[in-house]
Amino acid sequence: MATPRRGRRRLPPVQTGLAGRCPDCGEGRLFKSLLSFVDNCAACGADFTNEDTGDGPAVFVIFIVGIFIIPMALGFHMILNPPLAVTFILWGLIIIGVCLWLLRLMRGIMFNISWQRKAREVRAQDFKT
Ligand SMILES: [Zn+2]
Repeated sequence: MATPRRGRRRLPPVQTGLAGRCPDCGEGRLFKSLLSFVDNCAACGADFTNEDTGDGPAVFVIFIVGIFIIPMALGFHMILNPPLAVTFILWGLIIIGVCLWLLRLMRGIMFNISWQRKAREVRAQDFKT
């Protein structure tokens, strides 16, 4: 296994994040399932076990869905006037699918940005002198 090269190369974080690739080498897969990260990059061995994107991606997804998708659902119901159950079921499935898809993309992008900027969680020992 190769040694991690965190922060050495500057691959475009949006490009590697959208592709779901390692922020270091751009080759290894970043996700082991729909939303969870792999522990190590299979290509370069970068360690992702302590990395986390926090709640940031969810905030962006909420804003995007709230601004673009919810008005489309309301417009669909107001213009076509289907039974309310049809609107709920159809747009409920669409909204869940869009949220999961966007969440994966945003997690990949934010993870790659934080990796390249060497961001990490603040710990209590950081404040000790
Ligand atoms: Zn890698």
